[in-house]
Amino acid sequence: MLVDQLGRPLRDLRISVTDRCNLRCTYCMPADVFGPDYAFLPRAELLSFEEIERLARAFVNLGVSKLRVTGGEPTLRRDLPDLIRRLSGIGGVQDIAMTTNGLLLPRMAADLKAAGLDRVTVSIDSLDPEVFGRMNGLGTHPQRVLDGIEAALTAGLGVKINTVVQRGVNDAGLRGLWLALRDLAPVRFIEFMDVGNHNGWNMDSVVPSREVLARLAGDDLRFTPVNPEYRGEVAARHTDGQGHEVGLISSVTAPFCGDCSRARISAVGTLYSCLFASGGTDLRGPMRGTPGQAALDDAGLEALIAGVWRERRDRYSEERGELTAASREARAGKVEMSHIGG
Ligand code: SAM
Repeated sequence: MLVDQLGRPLRDLRISVTDRCNLRCTYCMPADVFGPDYAFLPRAELLSFEEIERLARAFVNLGVSKLRVTGGEPTLRRDLPDLIRRLSGIGGVQDIAMTTNGLLLPRMAADLKAAGLDRVTVSIDSLDPEVFGRMNGLGTHPQRVLDGIEAALTAGLGVKINTVVQRGVNDAGLRGLWLALRDLAPVRFIEFMDVGNHNGWNMDSVVPSREVLARLAGDDLRFTPVNPEYRGEVAARHTDGQGHEVGLISSVTAPFCGDCSRARISAVGTLYSCLFASGGTDLRGPMRGTPGQAALDDAGLEALIAGVWRERRDRYSEERGELTAASREARAGKVEMSHIGG
């Protein structure tokens, strides 16, 4: 079995299909950086669906069984159901998920399901129109995301909800959000992370998961932990004893690098072995070949990927605590979340 330097197997592949998004969440793609003049990737730079399928097959041959399509906002990629159909035709793929802001699901959910998509994780950070509008940078109303969740459920897709928590921004409404959404789908609360280089992260803006759980419980609910379904499950799940589940993703206060089996490829085909990496390995160039360099065949492509995984030592989230603010700054140049997805 292929394992990295810390003994971690390669099980999951996250595929970013675009760097564009139809929101400008302040913690991810702030509008003052990703404004009208921002140079998004030209289409010719993006991996084609054929190339993504070929890469996915290589990863599956190396042990991957779960694929997640992300972005940017993946639903902005034209003809996305065609890609899902290709991915679902790969033998050995057990699960295809997509992370999305949900805005385009009302018109796409049924086609995506028919193409073979199993699940969506829909991001919504607040049900308060003013708070959500400010966080998404464009004043978009939360009802539009709720419509997307409804469409996904109607289409028969599995649904989970992601909520990023920022102190002083959306933390006051967490219990209300959970009570309103808990009958629809499990909600997972994510600690605000220092991804990318533009979100002004500092430790004071992180609400530790244990505090989130206490706020959800209030005076009348009691949560008990649920056993993980598999090793490496990132959300610590708790039940309220009334059939509802909440997931806590403690990326900052209880990092889970030791179990990380995820590889990520950007929309241009760069392989990253960590969400916080500052560099990756170009797979597109070797796949396409260059004037002086013949294109890799499938065996060569697998060997290239396997070599990267074998050398992998990343454990940024565990190291974060040891970094001073200055040494964190010195690591600036981390890949943007919009390039590799969550
Ligand atoms: N556009 C899609 C969406 O909104 O879900 C997919 C891409 S988005 C980068 C993936 C996930 O990363 C979202 O749930 C988003 O909230 C989360 N995310 C982005 N920046 C984050 C940060 N700084 N800390 C924690 N989660 C973050």
